[in-house]
Amino acid sequence: MIRVGVNGYGTIGKRVADAVAAQPDMEVAGVAKTQPNFEAHTAVERGYPMYAAIPERAPLFSEAGIETAGVVDELVADSDVIVDCTPSGIGAENRSLYASYDTPAVFQGGEGSDVAETSFNARSNFEDARGADTVRVVSCNTTGLSRIVAPLEETYGVEKVRATLVRRGGDPGQNSRGPINDILPDPIDIPSHHGPDVKTIFPSLSIETMGLKVPATLMHVHALNVTLESDVTAAHVRQLLEGESRVYVIPEGLGIDGAGKLKDFALDAGRPRGDLWENCVWGESIATEGRDLYLFQAIHQESDVIPENVDAIRAMTDSADADESIELTNRTLGVGLAGDPAGFSRSGRVEAADD
Ligand code: NAD
Repeated sequence: MIRVGVNGYGTIGKRVADAVAAQPDMEVAGVAKTQPNFEAHTAVERGYPMYAAIPERAPLFSEAGIETAGVVDELVADSDVIVDCTPSGIGAENRSLYASYDTPAVFQGGEGSDVAETSFNARSNFEDARGADTVRVVSCNTTGLSRIVAPLEETYGVEKVRATLVRRGGDPGQNSRGPINDILPDPIDIPSHHGPDVKTIFPSLSIETMGLKVPATLMHVHALNVTLESDVTAAHVRQLLEGESRVYVIPEGLGIDGAGKLKDFALDAGRPRGDLWENCVWGESIATEGRDLYLFQAIHQESDVIPENVDAIRAMTDSADADESIELTNRTLGVGLAGDPAGFSRSGRVEAADD
């Protein structure tokens, strides 16, 4: 059993802990939190040992009726792998803590790429993380772009990617973020930082990205134009993407015309927290003209990186190859949406579309 500690138990951390708990070859060694808020009570209910991320705040937990198993150093010492899910920038500060206990660490996309030996997307570069002590799972947007680039590159070759990223202003609980009533080019400078981040996975890829932020919390939406190295048909690209277990090609006829209905779809299916781990590509939007491919996809920022964190742990511990790990993660979490909603069980668990 790989004992996994989760440091930082917010949007990403709580999902990573639940995903780890679902793996037959992993267990949650514990989670570290800064404060005994509602998420701390949920962690206790789920049976995750609680550690104080800031030792001086440990008394706050006992005052709130939460028993702690110790402080974060003890969690790091007791874990085979630590997954850092703290806010952007804190992960880099925690690096020396993990190194001092020789505990391999997974960082998140809010950190710079220099925080780890390699950036990671399971579909694209699993091998680069084999046996690594530090790995950075790239951001939600970079994960979403990488999952599309990998099969296109392998099948047709990619000459150039141009992507416009319409990003949610904040997650549902982030009530201090915005905009509330505006449409922001963000960053205003072109290109945005997303293209260089994708190049941490595909170093020789030619890619330019532009970003916006809008008053939404649901998902990001990407408008993609990819110039391929050979002529393609939309039908061929569609078939290719339908064969990708972490890409859901939304069938025409379901009436899913936006991110809101996608989230309803996931909630109706009983997905935990309404999560959509897959890239959601609108089937009708897949269009080609010569070597140019166009499509729209929606990315659930809170959850698409979760299966990637699980695979990163297996890569670092050298406990499975890419195909074995991806298949196991998909099966245990229920990643992979079949086009037909009748394919959902009441529990929301579905078999991978390519099973
Ligand atoms: P979050 O704010 O929801 O959660 C972070 C948690 O860490 C909070 O519970 C906070 O109290 C806690 N924390 C703060 N300081 C800490 C410390 N010193 N030690 C331990 N815990 C501490 O943040 P998040 O959205 O889960 O983001 C975590 C990381 O994941 C960031 O790098 C972010 O860029 C990345 N990420 C976020 C998203 C997203 O959309 N939310 C998507 C992909 C990647």
